[in-house]
Parts: sequence; structure tokens; C-alpha cells
Amino acid sequence: MRESWQERFAETPDVLLGARHQRTIVPVLDFAVGGDEFVTMAGPCSVETERQLMATAYHVLGAGARVLRGGAFKPRTSPYSFHGLGLEGLKLLAKAREATGLAVVTEVMSECDVQMVAEYADILQIGSRSMENYTLLEAAARSGRPILLKRGMVATIADYLHSAQVILSNGNPHVILCERGIRTFETAMRNTFDAAGIALLKEVTHLPVIADPSHASGHRDLVPALARIGVAAGADGLIVEVHPDPDKAWSDGEQSLDFAEFDAMMDDLAPWIALREHTWGRRHTAGARALEAVG
Ligand code: PEP
Ligand code: MN
Repeated sequence: MRESWQERFAETPDVLLGARHQRTIVPVLDFAVGGDEFVTMAGPCSVETERQLMATAYHVLGAGARVLRGGAFKPRTSPYSFHGLGLEGLKLLAKAREATGLAVVTEVMSECDVQMVAEYADILQIGSRSMENYTLLEAAARSGRPILLKRGMVATIADYLHSAQVILSNGNPHVILCERGIRTFETAMRNTFDAAGIALLKEVTHLPVIADPSHASGHRDLVPALARIGVAAGADGLIVEVHPDPDKAWSDGEQSLDFAEFDAMMDDLAPWIALREHTWGRRHTAGARALEAVG
């Protein structure tokens, strides 16, 4: 007999969608991730200057984003690259939230920084390179803040679910999953976008799933197409890198959209998002009925 997803991922029972766990909706300020609203998170890879951050925050707000992203602590492949403004960056993010009403998501890299980052951020981001750092996951979980858990670049879906399980087991139900591309033999793009992974995660888990087309592709001209694919695969939202002048960005400029490109992407996505909202209600009602039937 065919192995069910429940059997295949039996080691991580708390993340699985089933009679015991209906859809998780993560509340953030005055909205929610994983509900009927498609949530866009956007902003620079790194917080650089007040001018850069404020201009980006106002712009992405105007184009429909709900969450401002921006790294204050940056994990970088090279030890010689810019590693972020640290506390100063967190303060700028908080200032941008105050000015715009956008929620803030930012990465925390070390368990020693969890308390400080949680003071300034509405959502704590666990980066791809930290996905299996269970000490960090435990500390982040205990902060009580929602966690944006990015998939490790060499993590299988089972590995990924283990990490989500660690957060749930530490008393924090508010986990948002994020597919950001995985390493494969393909080298033309920075990573390989695992759209099927999004569909699978939506099928087997009750957690919200968002797509990161920026890190998945590494090229700004591919970002709108991957965003569209993410919506079609069933993602609940997006996290996208946007910069006022991408060629001068201190990190990830080659994959960052400028303001006009971000506007165009959001316009192009509108009909796809409307389609998602149309089917969302139906899928969720059908899902709820199926769950009732299994008890
Ligand atoms: C980022 O969001 O800028 C980042 C470093 O992402 P990832 O952890 O997915 O590489
Ligand atoms: Mn980045």
C-alpha cells in the first residue's frame, strides 16, 4: 500500500495537517499570514542608511506590501562582505515601522541576540544557513514572536519539517515557512526554486508558506516569474528584495528590484492573487470538511 504523507513525516507530527491540527493563521500587528489575505514582505537585503530604508518602506507600502524586510545581522558567504549595522539597523527598522505602519521582519543569527532583535522586530527571520541551529531555534521560539523559518539550502522537506517541529515543541505555534531555493547541479541561477516543495508543504503542513523569489533566482529579471509561480503553487505570501538603487546595494543588488520593477511585479501579480483568493475559500472549506470526516 502507498505510504501516506502522515506516515512519511511521522517524526514531526505537530507540523502535519490533520484532524488534530487545522490551518495555522499567524497574527502580525493588524493582519495575519496564512489567512485569506496574500501577504507581501518587501525591502532591502540589508539595512544600509536611514534614507535608503525610509524611501523603500514608503514605496513598498504604496505598492501593497504589509511587511518591511531588511537585514541588520547578515549571514554572508564571504567573511569579507558587509555583515550588517546590528543594533543601529534594528533601530532604523523600528523607526520605519513607526512612520509607515508596516510590520518588520529581520534575521536573528545568534541566540545571544534573540531578546534584542525581538524587541524591535514583529517577525524573527531564521536564515537558510541557520535552519538547523536548534539552540537558536529554541531561543527564537521562546521569544514568543512569530518565526519566519527559511528552508536550508541543502535541507530536504523532512529536514525542514524537523526544524519547524523544534519551534512548535518549544511552545511557539506561529511559524511561517519560506521556500528560498535549494542547491542543485544547476549553476546558471543562484539556487533552484522548489515550487513543488511549496505545493507539498501546503499539502502536508498546517503552517503558512511563503516564497522568496529573490534568493531562489539570484537574478532580478527572473524574480517576477518566480513570484507568479509561487502564487500558483499555493504560497500565502512573498518576501522580495527591493532597493532604491540596486546596483549600489551593499548586498544582493543583482537580485534586488528597483521601485519601478517592484511596482510592475505587483501589478502583474494582481490577477494571480485574485485567482488565489477565489480558490482559497473553496479549498479551505473542502479541507475542513475532509478533516471533519476523519474525525
Ligand atoms: C536574506 O533574506 O537576505 C537571506 C540572507 O536569506 P537566506 O537566509 O535565505 O539566504
Ligand atoms: Mn539577501
